[in-house]
Amino acid sequence: MSDQPQESAEPLVTYEQRGAVALITMNRPGVRNAQNADMTFQLDNAFLRAVNDDSVGAIILAGAGDHFSAGHDIGTPLRDIHRNFERRATTYWPHEDKAGAEAIFVREAELYVGMCRRWRELPKPTIAMVQGACIAGGLMLAWVCDLIVASDDAFFADPVLKMGIPGVEYFAHPFVMNPRIAKEFLYLGERMTAARAYEAGMVNRVIPRAELEARTFEIANKLAAQPRFGIALAKRAINQAEDRMGLRDSIDAVYGLHHVAHAHNSLTSTDHLAGQDARSMAAAQRGK
Ligand code: ZN
Repeated sequence: MSDQPQESAEPLVTYEQRGAVALITMNRPGVRNAQNADMTFQLDNAFLRAVNDDSVGAIILAGAGDHFSAGHDIGTPLRDIHRNFERRATTYWPHEDKAGAEAIFVREAELYVGMCRRWRELPKPTIAMVQGACIAGGLMLAWVCDLIVASDDAFFADPVLKMGIPGVEYFAHPFVMNPRIAKEFLYLGERMTAARAYEAGMVNRVIPRAELEARTFEIANKLAAQPRFGIALAKRAINQAEDRMGLRDSIDAVYGLHHVAHAHNSLTSTDHLAGQDARSMAAAQRGK
């Protein structure tokens, strides 16, 4: 590939074990850890490694640098939307040689909803350790973790309505916050502070930035000390209840609406994102 800037010299995801805790870190700090497909598959490999290693009792998902995640990569030189990867769990056939709605529908079913569901159902407890931005696709990564520990400077937003899209692919909004707040969150697309996310029940702890890592590891160590099978069953119990409350069905139903929006954009503008990219979305966030 000719479009390999210097950041590609580093792994997009790093894996480190401290005691019984695996720390999985998204490692594109120069682009606020924008999530391309390469990173997605590396995350998937890292989660699998942590699950398969009996010495790991809990997993922390983190983002290197000042921000947890700016969301899906919609504008860096390493954007790899047309690249295919060898897949372990197959939701659909390869997308990169398909056209129209099929390409986007299949790609997002595998990379976004499929991956997020797999990671939510990992049999080991997970904590998202969130600082700075947690935007759009970044929300999905935090939401599929069992606990979210946020620094006091963290902020959350799903601004994709600017693209005419009714929320990110893993549509957990009315489950991670109440429906009226979810409407405000989606309709306005504004930043939600960590303090408000805590009030809304979306995060478990808000921690001063300087203490974020130490305090998150404290919690992770407690999780790792619990009986392995017991906590796996407890996790399954809550996840199953959440699915009985409608989470899984809601995500499936809204996935159709999401792809009507992508198809509409493709029919009426230059692409399925309504011609928006990282730059225009950032400008919109700043109110310009
Ligand atoms: Zn999408």
